[in-house]
Amino acid sequence: MSFIVAVDGPAGSGKGTITKEIEKRTGLINLDTGATYRCFALEVLRHGYTPSDTQHILNLLDNIDIKIENEGMKDIILLNGKDVTDEIRSTEVTEASALISTIIEVRNKMVELQRKMVGNKNVIVEGRDIGTVVFPHADLKIYLDADDEVRAQRRYKEYIEKGINITYDEVLEQIRWRDENDKNKQVGALKKAEDAIVIDTSNMNIEEVVEKVKNMINQKLKEKEENNMENIER
Ligand code: C5P
Repeated sequence: MSFIVAVDGPAGSGKGTITKEIEKRTGLINLDTGATYRCFALEVLRHGYTPSDTQHILNLLDNIDIKIENEGMKDIILLNGKDVTDEIRSTEVTEASALISTIIEVRNKMVELQRKMVGNKNVIVEGRDIGTVVFPHADLKIYLDADDEVRAQRRYKEYIEKGINITYDEVLEQIRWRDENDKNKQVGALKKAEDAIVIDTSNMNIEEVVEKVKNMINQKLKEKEENNMENIER
């Protein structure tokens, strides 16, 4: 039986950084579900379609092959066998992925794929609808949050480090637009699962968040082990 930690939250809340660090420090494998939407968005753009060409987009769903290979602190993302790890982070793909992820058929296919990728592994899965839709029976659900200005500041810093020419105000506008888009999806909208634990990272550093999450995981693993032992003894 696998052990699943679901981590949901808005763009820039630190999900990617935290789950990668948890992977490094525990036996859990990290799955970035946003990468599946990004790959599909790239495929759509490569065909010259826009996110509103719904029929053409749906026709692409059957022939998409997405693989994520875990390589230390970096995931290698393969779209139809080719490495697209960096390409899927462009602003065009970011915007297209937000739009195509509102299409219900696209979500159904991506959710199916994400469940297959997890199989019976012990994982920490990050996204927007993991605790609500993809793994509603996850062992532990965490909802990471932070003020939009703090999230914009983090993203802005990342962009500047990568040499991307953008202003802080543009990043803040992007973050707010993505929040609106995420929260208003008909299916798979970003929301806290009823049984999720909220961590507001606005005033926390990475190490503090990682430690907190790691302690929660250890506690849940212990509980699960104790339950299993009780079942065996009965
Ligand atoms: O997390 P990331 O920014 O890489 O996600 C890319 C896009 O995919 C986002 O716009 C987000 O709305 C969407 N997404 C989603 N459901 C998920 C993960 C990401 O709709 N589980």
